[in-house]
Amino acid sequence: MIIGKIGKNEKKIKFHLDITCMTCKKTVPGGMQASENYFGSDSFKIEIDNFKKNYLCGICRDKKRLADKQ
Ligand SMILES: [Zn+2]
Repeated sequence: MIIGKIGKNEKKIKFHLDITCMTCKKTVPGGMQASENYFGSDSFKIEIDNFKKNYLCGICRDKKRLADKQ
């Protein structure tokens, strides 16, 4: 998963993030990427925070998608 935008000529930083599903509380290890410039910046931290707050694992995302349809 990519956090923020990575420009064509920008170096990528790969990092690991343990994310917890908001619904079933399952922890999912995520392989993440961000551009070198963005990594560690304030907006990066905010985006990571928001990402964690809204994260749903694949199963819960599917369930939500089905529920939204009805
Ligand atoms: Zn879940």
